[in-house]
Amino acid sequence: MEEAYIVEMKQKIFDAVRKCRICISCYNDCPLQESTTGFVTQGPTGITKSLYYGILWDALKGKDAEDLRDILYRCTTCGSCVNRCRKSACGIDVVGVIEAGRQFLVEKMIGPLPDQVKALEALDQEKNPYGELAEKRTQWLEAIDPQEAQKVKVLADGAKAENLLFVGCTCSYDPDLIKMPEALVKVLNCAGLDYGIMKDEGCCGDPALRIGEAGLFEELAGGNVEKIANCGAGRVINACPHGYHTLQNNYTDWENKPEVQHYTQAFADYLTQGKLQVKKKIDRRVTFHDPCYLGKRNNIYDAPRVILDKIAGDRFVEMKRNRADSLCCGGGGGRMFAEIEETTRLSELRVRHALEVGAEIIATACPWCYIQLSDGIKTSGNEGKIEVRDLADLLAECL
Ligand code: SF4
Ligand code: SF4
Repeated sequence: MEEAYIVEMKQKIFDAVRKCRICISCYNDCPLQESTTGFVTQGPTGITKSLYYGILWDALKGKDAEDLRDILYRCTTCGSCVNRCRKSACGIDVVGVIEAGRQFLVEKMIGPLPDQVKALEALDQEKNPYGELAEKRTQWLEAIDPQEAQKVKVLADGAKAENLLFVGCTCSYDPDLIKMPEALVKVLNCAGLDYGIMKDEGCCGDPALRIGEAGLFEELAGGNVEKIANCGAGRVINACPHGYHTLQNNYTDWENKPEVQHYTQAFADYLTQGKLQVKKKIDRRVTFHDPCYLGKRNNIYDAPRVILDKIAGDRFVEMKRNRADSLCCGGGGGRMFAEIEETTRLSELRVRHALEVGAEIIATACPWCYIQLSDGIKTSGNEGKIEVRDLADLLAECL
């Protein structure tokens, strides 16, 4: 006899998948169509129908179970299919189905992918997926310009600030990304904001939720909600789109929900209001890669372009595929923590798109997009021709 919540989970999956008309409108929008040629189960409906029949026919043992797991965890959770189904068909929350499916597989001990287990253990123990020590979370402050660092309030023991910079795990721990938090701090200092960072910030929970560990997600979310409330901040500014999306859309336990923004939104406002003055412009041709968790998942397309208009003017050029048509970099949905088989790397395709429009810089606004695209430049042999920069870093250079 299955427990009630498993029955409920299965029903949710069945109800959503049965609505699918198999019109395959969503297929052309799915990045897996471009990266996994040859797999019959690539694409949104291939994934959801595999899940449906896997559960219905009880194909949850041995090789069948492994195949189903691999099909389900290939999705980047980019959201293209959800938008397409909403526009052209019947509004199925395909990502919701896939995430519920992953939770189901975790409950049945079929998921997650073996590589992802380590990340979940690290999240449980150190509140970050990289296995770094929790007490070293704010150590990045020691590696940036001390004059900028000393203006950052490190909030602990009930200390308050009007705004909270939610730094996230990747910006806190990845030394290759140090320019990103450094730039965020420089811009916030320049805007004269009263802000702080949490000394004991924990992972936003995105990796746990996307991988299907709902219990761990609830624990991380609950911890952050309580700590954010203790800081008294009326607004949370997220460095990472995944943190933004998760706090904005997946945290349900707020007593008094603060305003939640991605940094591009806050900085675009400051530029428009004149709180930030651009003193010089980027003198190289720059394009923008829309992170899926900003654009497709949250419809934030204009704010990054307000910044680019101010700092690059006519040196900014759109890739052929931009905004809602942008191609996923391949890093979302827990894929940062596993090696996913791809016939063509999404990150390399995206680098090719940028080179096609003559860009020398790919700007983005997400630490995972930054890592993916930087790898794509290396693996496609384009080092020296183009570089990836975070938008905050570009803006900081222009102030
Ligand atoms: S667009 Fe919607 S209805 Fe059509 S195949 Fe995709 S999920 Fe199914
Ligand atoms: S969320 Fe993106 S990767 Fe996943 S099935 Fe939909 S379109 Fe494909």
